[in-house]
Amino acid sequence: MILDENLRSQLLPYMDLLENPIILKVDADDSENGQKINEFTDELASLSDLISKEKTNLNHKPAFSIEREGVSGLVFSGLPLGHELNSLVLALVQVSGRPPRIEQELIEQIKAIKTSLHFDTYVSLTCHNCPDVVQALNTMTILNPNISHTMIEGGMFQAEVEAKGIMAVPAVFKNGEEFHSGRASLEELLEKITGPESSDSFAEKEPYDVLVVGGGPAGASAAIYAARKGIRTGLIAERFGGQPLETLGIENLIGTPYIEGVQLGRQLEEHVKKYPVDLMNLQKAVKLEKKDLIEVSLANGATLKSKAVILSTGARWRDLGIPGEQRFKNKGVAYCPHCDGPLFSGKDVAVIGGGNSGIEAAIDLAGLVNHVTVLEFLPELKADKILQKKLASLTNVTVLTNVETKEILGDEQVTGLNYQVRGSKETIHLELAGVFVLIGLVPNTQWLEGTIDLTDRHEIVTDKVGATNIPGVFAAGDCTDTVYKQIIVSMGSGATASLGAFDYLIRN
Ligand SMILES: Cc1cc2nc3c(=O)[nH]c(=O)nc-3n(C[C@H](O)[C@H](O)[C@H](O)COP(=O)(O)OP(=O)(O)OC[C@H]3O[C@@H](n4cnc5c(N)ncnc54)[C@H](O)[C@@H]3O)c2cc1C
Repeated sequence: MILDENLRSQLLPYMDLLENPIILKVDADDSENGQKINEFTDELASLSDLISKEKTNLNHKPAFSIEREGVSGLVFSGLPLGHELNSLVLALVQVSGRPPRIEQELIEQIKAIKTSLHFDTYVSLTCHNCPDVVQALNTMTILNPNISHTMIEGGMFQAEVEAKGIMAVPAVFKNGEEFHSGRASLEELLEKITGPESSDSFAEKEPYDVLVVGGGPAGASAAIYAARKGIRTGLIAERFGGQPLETLGIENLIGTPYIEGVQLGRQLEEHVKKYPVDLMNLQKAVKLEKKDLIEVSLANGATLKSKAVILSTGARWRDLGIPGEQRFKNKGVAYCPHCDGPLFSGKDVAVIGGGNSGIEAAIDLAGLVNHVTVLEFLPELKADKILQKKLASLTNVTVLTNVETKEILGDEQVTGLNYQVRGSKETIHLELAGVFVLIGLVPNTQWLEGTIDLTDRHEIVTDKVGATNIPGVFAAGDCTDTVYKQIIVSMGSGATASLGAFDYLIRN
């Protein structure tokens, strides 16, 4: 039985949400995987009288599609379990006729796509970045008959994954061509399909009282605090949600004992949207200038004006900055062990970085791959002792300290790396299939260099109320010189900066 009692009890409540009969159209032979698909679809059909099953021919098999009269093209090739269980639930209820919970504007943009598009998305069931992409492309498929989408579970189609050279998931192919790799929201995928929003729509925007730059916990908090004062508030974000979107589970947001990072990102957006905040997602700030008003230029060419600005651009994973790293990104150089770890099953990998995130990654990977080599630049690992103890108990991990990784090598994909023991000139080669880089974060402030006071770690210098050296410009969260980089700290500093900005507006 694939759908055990636990999974059945998770799925059953959603069966009440089915609005119309749906058909599982199955293409599965007698192979082991074919039998699994057959068994799984039998068990799904037994959950509701509104679900029936029949045979069909599908391009990618074994697989099943979920269809209703007038709605087709949504296919699961493999079992949508693990992190994809939600994708299955949403597909069932949305194909049955329940409208997707997305803005009308997006629905219209999707329906306006006239070209015929087929997407294949390769996923791993432990990838927390994959469901958003699968669900976005499924929603497009349901809304537009020109679009179809097949989710392909990499574990079931390992030979195919290797043949295509996929080393990072989700990996999306559009009409057979590589289209996208990694996490993406529906808005991001739509923008990639239809092209970026023109800067014309920004030309008419009146100046804001407060313009927040950044849509993570700090920016969301700053925008809500500003809007609650009844002042004109705007928020631009390269990717709304920020680092929580990279986080599996959060257990230290006080008052919320556990929440998945992606869910927190959604809740931040819903909360911001409860207020009249002009939320401009997928927009990158590239320049800040203090004139009569403060002007923020965007990558799309538009310029927004505001009386006060709150910078909350957070941080991103630090790159190694060595030859081969950029060339082999998603071709063996990876940053997300949860997502991409299963693709290295049975192979040798390295983890660069001996801090908490590096050692957690090494422990996770040791359960999936043949062998893990940890490379740490300092003479000792920096991770908590409890993690080091766990690492030391694993038999397929080697730890190298006091070493410098010099180069990542490969042909089409990573084949190894070169390192040196610090102080020595001898280059040592390791043969590997994957390199996971986990060497900490850097603040997203490069666009502010020379404009605003930064510390030598490139963090924005702030005072007690979040004010920077430029009058009217405030900052909050991980992009600042705050000592602790945490969600709750960022939310608090976003609130502080917003109240500081409001006070500034009253006095000026
Ligand atoms: C893997 C991982 C796990 C973590 N786990 C936890 C945890 O369990 N608990 C915890 O408290 N903290 C955790 N953290 C830390 C926490 O996520 C951060 O401290 C917090 O998200 C910082 O919030 P922020 O708003 O300052 O920045 P971010 O979350 O980084 O958000 C920055 C925002 O600014 C946008 N942006 C960046 N540059 C620009 C630009 N030029 N123009 C426009 N927008 C821009 C980004 O797209 C994003 O929307 C974790 C971090 C990581 C990476």
